[in-house]
Parts: sequence; C-alpha cells; structure tokens
Amino acid sequence: MNVLKPAIRLMSRLKYPQKFLLVGILVLIPLLVTMQQFLSKINEDIDFAAKEQLGLTYNNPLVEFFYCLQDHAALSVAVASGDAAMQIALADQQVKVEDAMAIVDAVDQRSGATLEAQARWEAIKSSWNELKAGLANMTSSQTLEKHQAISDATLRLITVVGNSSNLILDPDIDSYYYMDTVITKVPLAASYLSQIRAYGTQASESGSLSPETATRLTILDGQVSSTLDSNLEGFGYSFELNPALQPGLQGQIDTYVQSVRSFSEQLKTNFLQNSAGDDLMNASELFQKAGDPLAANAELYRDVAAGLDDLLQARIGRFEVRRTLVTATALLGLAIAIYLLVGFYLAVQQTIRELDEASQRMVKGDREWDFQPSSSDELAQVAVSFNSIASELVVARDQALDSSRAKTSFLANMSHELRTPLNAILGFSTLLSSGMVKGGVALAAPQADLLKKIDANGKRLRDLINDVLDLAKIESGSISVSVVPGHPRVFLEETVSAVRSLATSKNLQLELNVASDVPEVVLTDVRKVQQVVTNLLGNALKFTEKGGVWVDVVMQDDSQWQISIRDTGIGIPPESLSHIFEKFSQVDETDRRQYEGSGLGLAIVKNLVECLRGDIRVESQVKQGSVFTLTLPKRLEVEEG
Ligand code: ADP
Repeated sequence: MNVLKPAIRLMSRLKYPQKFLLVGILVLIPLLVTMQQFLSKINEDIDFAAKEQLGLTYNNPLVEFFYCLQDHAALSVAVASGDAAMQIALADQQVKVEDAMAIVDAVDQRSGATLEAQARWEAIKSSWNELKAGLANMTSSQTLEKHQAISDATLRLITVVGNSSNLILDPDIDSYYYMDTVITKVPLAASYLSQIRAYGTQASESGSLSPETATRLTILDGQVSSTLDSNLEGFGYSFELNPALQPGLQGQIDTYVQSVRSFSEQLKTNFLQNSAGDDLMNASELFQKAGDPLAANAELYRDVAAGLDDLLQARIGRFEVRRTLVTATALLGLAIAIYLLVGFYLAVQQTIRELDEASQRMVKGDREWDFQPSSSDELAQVAVSFNSIASELVVARDQALDSSRAKTSFLANMSHELRTPLNAILGFSTLLSSGMVKGGVALAAPQADLLKKIDANGKRLRDLINDVLDLAKIESGSISVSVVPGHPRVFLEETVSAVRSLATSKNLQLELNVASDVPEVVLTDVRKVQQVVTNLLGNALKFTEKGGVWVDVVMQDDSQWQISIRDTGIGIPPESLSHIFEKFSQVDETDRRQYEGSGLGLAIVKNLVECLRGDIRVESQVKQGSVFTLTLPKRLEVEEG
C-alpha cells in the first residue's frame, strides 16, 4: 500500500473534474500514441505497395518500347542485309518505337525522378537517336550490335526501376515470383528470342549459316529454354502459395511455352541442322515464325503485370481495411470511454448534489429530507451511511429539542412559582422595615440590618428569577415582538433617567447624546430596546468605578441606527470577548468576584437583539473601558406567523 501513498495523496488533493481530467489524459495519451504508431506502420506498408505499383506503371510502357525495339532490330537487320521489301515495315516500326518512347517519356516526367530512372532513360533515348541517324549507312552486324546495346540498357533500366520501386523487395512470395517474371525472366527471354530472330535474319539474307552464327543461335536457344524453365518453376511456387492465381494465367503460359518450343523445334530443323543451308527459312518467314513466341511473351508479360498490379492493389486494399478498422475501433473505444467517463463524473456529481440538497433540507429542519440515492455505487453507499447517521442525528436533535422545551417550560413554571412566594417575602420585609406593621415594635439596629440583608438578597433572587424567566420565554419562542412608532429621544431619555440615581450614587458621569440626523420616530419594539439598553447601562455602571457612561445614538446608514453604550470601567479581556454573550458566562478573574451577577444579562440582550432584527458587538480594553454597539433597523418589519 506504501507505493500507492503518493497517488492517494495526489488524488485526495484534486477536485473531481481534475481527477477525471488527469486520469483521462493519462489513459488517452498512450492509447493515442499506440494507435498513431500502428497507423503509421500500416501507412508505411500502403506506401510500400503503392511504390511497387508506381514501378509497374513505369516498367509497363518501357517493356512495350522494348518489344517494339526488338521488331525494329530484326527489320533493320533485314534491310541492312539488302532486303528492300522490309523497308516500309521498318519505317512503320520506327514510328511505333517512337510512339512507345513518347509514352515512356510521359511516365518518366511523372515518376522518373522518384524511381531514379531519368538519367538512364535519357541515355537510351540518345542512343536511339544516334542509331536512327546512322541507320542508313550501317551494316547488318552494326545495326544488330547497336540495337542489342539499347536492348541491354533497357533491360537494365527495367531492373533499376524494379529495385528503386521496392518490387524486388516484395514481402509476399506469390507476388515476388510475379515480379521476377515481369522484371527479369520474360523481358530476358524476349531479348534472347529477338537476338535469334535478328541473327537468323542476317543468315537468311546472306543465304548461308556461318559456324559462329550457328553456335550463337544454339546458345541463345538454350538460354531461351533455361529462362523458360526457371520462369515456369517460379510460377509453380507462386501457384502453390496462391492457387487462385493459376486459372487466369495458365492459358497464356501454355500458349507461350507451346510457341517457344515449336519455334525452337523449327529453328533446330530448318536452321541449325541444315548444314548445307539449302533450306534456310527466308527472312520474312523467320520474322514471322519468331514473331509468335515474342508475341506470346509480350502477352504473358501484360497478363502477369496486370496480375501483379491486382495483387498489390488487393494488398493495399487489405491494409486500408485494417487501417479503417483500427481507426474505427480506436475511435469507438475512445468515444465510449469518454462517454462513460463523463457519465461517471455526472453520476458522482448527481449523488453529491442529492446529498447536498438532503443535508440542506435536514439543516433547515425539513422532516421529509430522507435521502434516496439514484445510483448504487460506493459513493451512494457512503451517502446511505450518511443517511442513517443523519436519521440518528435528527432523532437526537428532536429529543434534545423536546427536552429543551421541557426544561424551558419547567423553568418558566418554576420561576413563576418561585416569584409568588418571593414577592410575598419582599413585600413583608418592606412592611417590616418601614415599621408599618400594625401594633408592631420598632426594630432594633441589628434586626433592622438583618432585615435589610433579607431585602437585598430577596431582590437579587427576584432579578435572577426574572432573568431566567426572560431567557426561558425567549428560548421557548413564546416571546412576541410588538412594533410601535417610538421617539428615540424620549424613550432613551426615560431609560437613562431610570439609572441616573445609581450613577450619581457612584459619582459617575452619565450622558445621552442623540445625533441630529436620527429620526424623531422609529418603528421598533420600544420596550425591548429599553430592556436591552437598561441591561447594558446596568453592566456599564456596575463595572465602572470612576469616569462615566455615555449613550451615543447615531445613524449608521439610511435604514439602520446605532446605540453605543460606552464606559470607562474595568474592560473585558480579549479572550473573554467571544463568549460573554453565552448563558451563565462571566469573566473569571479574582478582582471581579466583588461584582454580583448571574451571567444571563448579555445572553438575554443577544436574544432580544435578534428578535429586533439587529446586531450587537463589543469592543473593550482592560482597565480602559468597553463599548457595546447596538445596530437596529429604522423600520422593523416582522414576518407574519
Ligand atoms: P452579569 O449578570 O454577570 O453581569 P452579563 O451577561 O450581563 O452577566 O455579563 C457577562 C459578563 O460580561 C460579566 O460578568 C462581566 O464580566 C462582563 N461584562 C459585561 N458588561 C461589561 C462591562 N460594561 N464592563 C466590563 N465587563 C463587562
């Protein structure tokens, strides 16, 4: 649990929205980073496959150019060997070559730089232009050589594009063999076939087959056959891995194999085994015969290239589906998580709000406050516990209120019961001391003294009982406020006059000052204001030995007036200021013991001031004096009921 302490400390310091935000962010960040990583990997794979496709779009027209060039090579050899009949075909073929070059040019403009092909393509073009310019004056061997050089450069460019477009790095075995077919095997086989055709044509035109040419043709024939074999092997692997590919291609493969083999057969019988050279195929026949495997080769190239493009497209499609799936799942998860998090937060808020409302109703004393949580989580459990504690509290409060009421009514009754005999005692002691008892004897000095003490103690007891009775009445709520128009200058003068004799007896100054802006008439419970002021004046005179007591009346603002009772008495120590308004509270200091009192006066004052919708505060300094300031509304409005 120690490891969790910092987390607990942090969480308990945060408010709920902050908690949710923090947890939310901490959960979301790794989720988003992981998702971003995953998506960028998918995007990389898509880009990889898309670049392979780009390579194909470059190589396809390049290979078409290559085929056109092969035909041009054979025709130009024939023409250079003196076959004028081929002249027109050669001119036509030249146009075809240049048309094919224009298409490669357009592709090269778009993606030649990306595929690092531009320089090589430019070199091929200039070689072609050179060849074209010098064609008329070339021997058949020269033209053959020049064509072969351009063919070889084109084959290299096909490989370079395959390399820079990722085709050679293709990660799937089935598409790898397709790639191998379109980049190396098929164009290479076409090159061999076309060389056979060109050298064959040269031989036919000259009418004899030299031993070197025979050897060269035999080697080329062998190369065609071995390229074909390894190509077929590759197809075999490819179909094994992805049988769905076979049906679309097998027909064209068969046609190609068939035409290569039959051409090879004819080459052997009509050319290579014919030592005398009598029956050599003529040039146009050879051109036609060799044209079949070359055409089948071109057709195969187109089919496989299209198949490869389909495979790459399908792979991109799969990645795109995966990307959509990942994004959609993550976004959905994210949306659900945020939705639930917000829901969680709102549920917590709701429970807290319900609890708050319930406790406010309870504090106001509403008996129907019982709390029913709308959720059933841990917080609601806490709320339910609060509910039962609160129920207990309400019961305890009601019991306390009941017993307080009982106590109050007991006190009120008792005070009343005590006052009646006490009044009788006081009455009789007055009668006794005034010597008014008929037939009585005049009292001797010691008895008269004792009688005075009875009278004085009796009065103290009556005052105390009166205070207790007042407080009991106030606390039981049975005291009523009766608002009447009163003249402050008049009723305060009356109040001050009532204690003047006490001031005089203690040789104290006593003054009432009413400011001129204090209105003539205020609306208040005059008797209660008098009771409060009498009480405060009584204390002021009681606790002052020299100096005096001043009653100052001023306006605090438009709606409130103030009465301050200021004395130069013993003052109140600061630590006692806060509780002198509590019941039975007296400042506990030895030098005050001489002052009599119950500790109830200020409690009564405070309650009365509340009834008057006013406020009382005290400022005091020990040995300097005290000021009790009473603030009252100019027009007291009492709520009905
Ligand atoms: P008591 O009946 O004891 O005077 P009060 O409630 O009127 O009871 O006063 C509470 C206590 O506050 C007094 O005992 C006294 O210590 C202190 N007190 C009240 N008024 C003054 C004053 N004007 N000067 C000094 N002390 C005062």
